[in-house]
Amino acid sequence: MFSKLLPLDEWGLFSSERRPVIISGPCSAESREGVLATARAISALGVEVFRAGAWKPRTSPQSFAGFGADALPWLVEARQETGLKVMTEVAATTHVEAVLKAGLDAVWVGARTTTNPFLVQEIAEALRGTDLPVLVKNPMSQEVALWLGAVERFAAVGLRKVGIIHRGFSSCEPSRYRNLPYWQIPLEIQQTLPNLPIFCDPSHIAGNRSYVGEIANQAVDVGFDGLMLECHLHPEAALSDATQQITPTELSQLLRSLSRSRSDQADAQMQALLDDYRARIDRLDEELLRLLAQRLDIAEQIGQLKQQHQLPVIQPDRWNRLQDRAVRIGHQAGLDETFVRNLFHLIHQASIERQF
Ligand code: PEP
Ligand code: MN
Repeated sequence: MFSKLLPLDEWGLFSSERRPVIISGPCSAESREGVLATARAISALGVEVFRAGAWKPRTSPQSFAGFGADALPWLVEARQETGLKVMTEVAATTHVEAVLKAGLDAVWVGARTTTNPFLVQEIAEALRGTDLPVLVKNPMSQEVALWLGAVERFAAVGLRKVGIIHRGFSSCEPSRYRNLPYWQIPLEIQQTLPNLPIFCDPSHIAGNRSYVGEIANQAVDVGFDGLMLECHLHPEAALSDATQQITPTELSQLLRSLSRSRSDQADAQMQALLDDYRARIDRLDEELLRLLAQRLDIAEQIGQLKQQHQLPVIQPDRWNRLQDRAVRIGHQAGLDETFVRNLFHLIHQASIERQF
């Protein structure tokens, strides 16, 4: 199925000279004037495709949900004026119909939509018989099969210009990013499906404009084919994703910072994986320390109880049972016995000190 997909050069959207290819524009199409002015401002920066959401999937029903089909003529006008190709997000068959009628150049499928195979199938059916390029964002969760399943659904209706957008995954792990990149996931896809064009959306990974540049650079360093970057003339006043959009000037600086040559990419891939693993270790260490602090607090409460009831602080039976249990659980989890004994020796000592 994947072997029928066309390389990016044959999509008719991007020139073959420039890598990474750049898609940029505001999160939402907020007004005709805003769309035109942004398109004008970024058309000279090396951007080839203009993005703007007409239909916005929002968490709250009170939030701005986009101008819908009414915004599509603004994109067409932006194309006429600047020569940029134009694309928007589709999340329903009615959206596809409106996009085809308006004659946009491409669409993307958002993270919330990729999560729903019924919807993806319907959108794919609505695109059957066209050759519209489709970029599929990853689902919110780390489900590669769901992501690639959506790509397959588009390929199965005969679309050949299908790519993916990595926009990070929602996670409970504490992070400065809105969505965690888990670089090993797109890197594995790149290795197993080298012909599947892959984009990165640093804006939605970052959730904060300060981090967009570093993520964009990492994506380029590891060999992504393109970037989708949210850009707004006045980001702080944007009606959606105000914290993560950058100005055209910042976009220009960011694009100039993407400098690494392809020969450095193996190193960069290794570095990205290393950074990913290290960030996970750091998060786990934080969690370990918080858990240890909680454990010591409880030990202290036990100490007070023992004092009130004049029980000895050290109760060898309890300590032996605790140690045996830790060794047993540690063994099941693949941990070395001496390591577990040493670790619990230290923990036990700290607990006892809290109890005196
Ligand atoms: C968007 O591109 O503005 C968007 C809604 O993205 P995502 O589906 O990645 O959240
Ligand atoms: Mn957005």
